[in-house]
Amino acid sequence: MKQIICALASVVFAAQVDTRQTFTVGTAKASRGQKVYGAIKVPAGSDAGYDIPVALVHGARPGPVLAVVAGSHGSEYASIMAVEDLIARVNPAELSGTLVLVPIVNIASFEKITPHVNPVDNKSMNRFYPGNARGTQTDRASFAVTKEVVEKCDHLIDLHGGDLDENLRPYSYWTVTGNQRQDEISRGMVLAFGLDHIIISRDRPKDPNASRFLENTASTRGKPSFTAEAGRSGPVDPNEVKTLADGVMRVMGHLKMTRQAAAPVRSPVWVEVVSVSADRDGMFHPAVDRDSHVAKGAKLGSVTDYLNRPLQDIVSPEAGIVMFVRALPSLKKGDTIASVGVVQSTPK
Ligand SMILES: [Zn+2]
Repeated sequence: MKQIICALASVVFAAQVDTRQTFTVGTAKASRGQKVYGAIKVPAGSDAGYDIPVALVHGARPGPVLAVVAGSHGSEYASIMAVEDLIARVNPAELSGTLVLVPIVNIASFEKITPHVNPVDNKSMNRFYPGNARGTQTDRASFAVTKEVVEKCDHLIDLHGGDLDENLRPYSYWTVTGNQRQDEISRGMVLAFGLDHIIISRDRPKDPNASRFLENTASTRGKPSFTAEAGRSGPVDPNEVKTLADGVMRVMGHLKMTRQAAAPVRSPVWVEVVSVSADRDGMFHPAVDRDSHVAKGAKLGSVTDYLNRPLQDIVSPEAGIVMFVRALPSLKKGDTIASVGVVQSTPK
């Protein structure tokens, strides 16, 4: 009997032990109730190494670990500024759990104002996950983020926006992994985030070793996660920064990391997207704005040559909502001209 009581006592004790008295990401090590700053080291390899800045807010009380990452595309500024805002805003004394904040993954893109890719190796920094310690800079950075951020978190939010050439309306992505329990949790997070247009992603890779995207690297490791986008084509709109930062705060409330109430968005619009790509070089002239509702076959814009001679009208392949449309005249074969969201019934 005495042995049983001892065993029970140790079980109860184990349940109360805080296994995360300290928390470490890269060079940042925080005790409970601390906010600390550091870097995730990307070692040099076939090209230069660099530091990815990280802020760590280790709450006064235990709870989930939420990672918020931005700047995989270093000229999607609203998403970067939203994480900057959160670094200042979240108070560890009021937090249950841990917030890992990575505002800029793609430092070279940010510094050189290069859209879509890391100019060091010309790779998108949201296509090479889970990364490779022996690859080029993007591969090694993706590997470091997988090890230091994805593997240490319970949930991840990847923030993006319209890049320099994208006139984008705000939306989230909800990934359907097929694991019903996980998908219900990520869906609750997306609805708490608050953007009312949600793209249903059914085609993400299922193999954790070929996860490709950052969010999918967390999702294929069983961590309910999602991606959200706001901001467009350069200048920072404070309202879109606020949209993203407030959305993260609502998800933290939803996950019981704070006391903030987080009612799910009313009347979400669920869409699946079809993209239109350029099949020739030229100059693009948009005929629609972001968020336009278009019929199938409606004109989205036109392409001319560099002497303003008409080459082609670009039409919508489906009836839907313009999620983004090319913001700039520059057009190379293969560029995305527009993304049209086709409205779906509420997913079961
Ligand atoms: Zn992006």
